[in-house]
Amino acid sequence: MAILCRKCGHKGTRAEFRFLGHADSAGGNSYRHCPKCKAAILCDEVEIIDDNSEKEVWGAGPLRGRVFTRKRKET
Ligand SMILES: [Zn+2]
Repeated sequence: MAILCRKCGHKGTRAEFRFLGHADSAGGNSYRHCPKCKAAILCDEVEIIDDNSEKEVWGAGPLRGRVFTRKRKET
């Protein structure tokens, strides 16, 4: 549901943690930017997708929409 910063302990929504990019093109991990300590946090997008608030992320911009286009099922 929420993203927890492993560096400073800040907890927030995906709207707070800016999407930076995929950590692994073949996996579900991505980097997100902690709004508090500015650290790049490694997140498991597959796990995050399971909650029902993903719409706010998918509709936020073309960069975040890339999560939909990854080829996980082909690996
Ligand atoms: Zn942080």
